Amino acid sequence: MYDYHVHSLYSDGGRFGAMLEAAADAGVSALGFADHCNLSPDPDRRRERARYARTFDLTHERRREALAAVREETELTVFDAVEVDYEPGAEEAIADFLADAGFDYTLGSVHYVGDRYVFPWGSFADASEAERRAFVDDYYETVVSLIDSELFDIAAHVDIVESHPHLSGFTTCEHAEMVADAFERSRTVPELNAGRFEDDDKPASFHPEGRVFEMLLDRGVEFTLGSDAHRPEDFAERIPALRERAERYGLDPVCPL
Ligand SMILES: [Zn+2]
Ligand SMILES: [Zn+2]
Repeated sequence: MYDYHVHSLYSDGGRFGAMLEAAADAGVSALGFADHCNLSPDPDRRRERARYARTFDLTHERRREALAAVREETELTVFDAVEVDYEPGAEEAIADFLADAGFDYTLGSVHYVGDRYVFPWGSFADASEAERRAFVDDYYETVVSLIDSELFDIAAHVDIVESHPHLSGFTTCEHAEMVADAFERSRTVPELNAGRFEDDDKPASFHPEGRVFEMLLDRGVEFTLGSDAHRPEDFAERIPALRERAERYGLDPVCPL
């Protein structure tokens, strides 16, 4: 069981020792730390990245030193990865950073579109149905740009709008097809992500789920597995759930390295 997507205290996750111990207890044999990083040139995003602990471009070398020490003390295989906020227009900055940093592998995520956040959860409570629909359209177009950019090994939680209480249900077959077409022509693979597993108030337990998941299965697109654990206690339920889902759908998880 390889878990390619967890967070450490170099962004908004837990301590290495506690994360590794909990992962091992859940049956994980290899763990990839993929801390958040935002490289947007937009002044508003620049201000927000500190608030949301997305300044990993400034600290990744320190984490690399920490991981070297951590590897001496654990039986688990430990990967040095990153989860970058994808934003059209930031491609050059992202490419330069990734080429320079030399991670074991990279994840790209769409967490916001324009100045509206899907995650951390932006509010769409006052948005009309047409506005929500338009946002979800923009979201999937941005996911396709992420995949087409070829910047990343893994595209994280590609239908995260389905976890949003005000955006779920707007994913269409056309969206699912766009995403599947993009994966078919790209080196980037999607992940099966269990980041919302315990949240009973969230409409989706996994990403992708529903239409996008079915379309990708249909096309024979391969997946990596990621718990998206931020706290040690996240592993106990998410790891068996990921394993069970992979088995149920006959997925043979791929290695992004
Ligand atoms: Zn994410
Ligand atoms: Zn994450």
